Amino acid sequence: MKRRRACPECDLVVVLPPLRAGEAAACPRCNRELTYRSKAPAERVLAYAIAALILLILTLPFPFMEFTLSGIQQEIVWLDTATAFRTSDWPVLAVLIVATILVLPGMYLLALTYVYAGIARREYWTGSIWLARAISHIKPWLMTDVFLVGVLVSLVKLLSMASISLGPSFWAFCGYVVFMAKTVSNVDADWMWFALHKEPKTPFIAQTGKDAWSQGLVGCSTCGLLNRFEQGHCRRCARRIRLPGRHSLEWTLALLLAAAILYIPANVYPMMSTSSVAGSTESTILGGVWQMVEFGSYLVAAVIFFASIVIPVAKVGILVWLCYVVRFGQPMSAAKRMRWYRVVEFIGRWSMIDVFVVAIMVALIQAGVLLSIQPGPAALAFAAVVVLTMLAAMAFDPKALWHPERVRNQGQEETDEQLVR
Ligand SMILES: [Zn+2]
Ligand SMILES: [Zn+2]
Repeated sequence: MKRRRACPECDLVVVLPPLRAGEAAACPRCNRELTYRSKAPAERVLAYAIAALILLILTLPFPFMEFTLSGIQQEIVWLDTATAFRTSDWPVLAVLIVATILVLPGMYLLALTYVYAGIARREYWTGSIWLARAISHIKPWLMTDVFLVGVLVSLVKLLSMASISLGPSFWAFCGYVVFMAKTVSNVDADWMWFALHKEPKTPFIAQTGKDAWSQGLVGCSTCGLLNRFEQGHCRRCARRIRLPGRHSLEWTLALLLAAAILYIPANVYPMMSTSSVAGSTESTILGGVWQMVEFGSYLVAAVIFFASIVIPVAKVGILVWLCYVVRFGQPMSAAKRMRWYRVVEFIGRWSMIDVFVVAIMVALIQAGVLLSIQPGPAALAFAAVVVLTMLAAMAFDPKALWHPERVRNQGQEETDEQLVR
């Protein structure tokens, strides 16, 4: 039986070729990778996921970092970096950090281990389908690698103030980040769903080389299976079928507007305030960058400037421009627009770095006698900007870049329907 798929980015219906280990199949029109075969995928993912889980557990009990200033020592465990916000004015930040570096990655790894252990034993285990669906929802919110960069940046910042030593938990955390990345890159949704549920028989004819939309079909955004619009739910993973591009422009623009508004307090208010015997200083995002330039840490200044200023502005700018292009059209090839969309999708999470830096600094220097650091309101506003721009990128339907006329005609169709009624 031929396995047909609609490309998730350009909607072209293609037949997946049989693949050997090490081979990948890509969309012939937009070059998006559709599926990848690794050698012994179940065992490989299981090994990486279990290693990551063990290292995650090892990061919890041991010291993460130790900070010495004028003979006074302060030691923190890894989770202090998240819970430091709990006692500040912004407990919601603590929830966000615990979720993105511990709870969601932990759930992701546990769900993967369960699903892949079932697959490896060639048995169907209860709840696998539900967990496999959860895996695809959690994936964009994993931020362990971003957190690691945040740790490195705050190390450089703190080295200018005091001496720092790294505990065993820090090294376990580095290992956890590496194995997490290995796990994520080895999970292939197409293979996983085929191993879980095989390929249900197609009750309709899908023509390859044509768009799924024009045939009344839609590719499931979770498992990839082709379904008819009117089916309501995917025949394999039971996910609700959403019509492609429906209200995606409105949603994207609304989320971007909210992000742009919050970006103002994120820059005006202080990101953190430092008080020492010499007096207290408050620094905004740009102020923090300038401080690092003055200290001579050009690399850290560049990283923060890029993550907190360039990425959010570029993201909002590119997405607004893509919405404009879809709505009003512009003479640029769909492939080029697609490249910009992929850039936005890729860079999104990385703007979180500065929020993590503040968390680590606050945790390490909690209300000391000589020095104390408190998070400012900008930290919360900025975290909200990151989350909103990520949601905006998710709400944007890349298929609209290839077929802007559909989005433009959607309003028309709806009024026509209302007229018929
Ligand atoms: Zn494609
Ligand atoms: Zn599905």
